[in-house]
Amino acid sequence: MKHISIVIPMYNEAEGLPALRARLTGVMDGLSDYTFEVLLVDDGSRDVSAEAALQMRREDGRFHLLRLSRNFGKEAAVLAGLDYADGDAVVLMDADLQDPPELIGRMLALWEEGYDDVYARRRSREGESGLKKFTSRCYYRMLARLSRTEIQPDTGDFRLFDRRCVLALRRLREQGRCGKSLFSWIGYRKKEILFDRDPRCAGETKWNYARLFELALDGIIALSVAPLRWIGAASLATGAAAAVALITVFAAAAPLWLPVLLFLAALQLGAIWLVSEYLGRALADGRGRPCYLVDSYDGVREENGDDKKTGVLSIAARRGGVADACRDMEPKSVV
Ligand code: UDP
Ligand code: MG
Repeated sequence: MKHISIVIPMYNEAEGLPALRARLTGVMDGLSDYTFEVLLVDDGSRDVSAEAALQMRREDGRFHLLRLSRNFGKEAAVLAGLDYADGDAVVLMDADLQDPPELIGRMLALWEEGYDDVYARRRSREGESGLKKFTSRCYYRMLARLSRTEIQPDTGDFRLFDRRCVLALRRLREQGRCGKSLFSWIGYRKKEILFDRDPRCAGETKWNYARLFELALDGIIALSVAPLRWIGAASLATGAAAAVALITVFAAAAPLWLPVLLFLAALQLGAIWLVSEYLGRALADGRGRPCYLVDSYDGVREENGDDKKTGVLSIAARRGGVADACRDMEPKSVV
């Protein structure tokens, strides 16, 4: 029987967990051709999410809790979940029921047809502000233009991955992660399904515009160095503008130097800012720190802050999941 992992990052989601459990249980019970594990990744919640998840574990062995040592952000929590997921396929979804778990059946059917990455595209997004929808649409369009790989529009992290996608994603261990870019970068056979995004079942969104802006930058920087090239184009354009300004000054004898100077200063500062964004990310990767540290798995304390990159595989290795992944990743010897 094929084994399916459902990976759910959560940060302060205790309020909505009973509803999540009820909906997931209904879906899993209805799909009797598969075995399931639900991996709740607690991303350093300050409420009782972890305790509630452990209670769920006691009552239903299909639920598991991977607790990180602090809040590392959703993207790192997703990676942790992918590292620990054992399934032949892995479904990623949010904890707030904005992604209806009832879609998992359709995802599995398409996976059985041979698709590797079945992603849910939002037809509508209820309960989200007009501004958020607008900025999100603009961002997707821009990312698609910048990127050499195809970006799936209006798609979040609600998707099903075949195991080979999971193994590929485990190899991408950069800091400043942006799932959207990484999921498109790995390629493989992708298939879209449409859905209406529900409002949050409980609690509040964990994103504000500052965090979203950072994530948006991470997404662009992960995909493209094109913005660095814009600096070159901008400097040429500014040079031309300066020449024109010079002629105007001579012709009209007006002190045009002030706006020109300010404009140049702004342009230079902008260019330096852009370069430092790239440099900052390069530095973070250069340090080679793990993307997350693990506190415990199913309530069992983890000594080594397990991360595949550190080579310390205690819990996961005992469970076989990550160890398998490493073996799969080793180059096969050709006899
Ligand atoms: N999340 C997380 N760590 C964070 C922020 C969010 O694991 O630092 C989880 C959150 O609990 C939820 C998912 O990521 O399951 C999506 O977050 P949210 O619903 O706040 O985002 P939105 O749907 O508003 O984009
Ligand atoms: Mg949400």
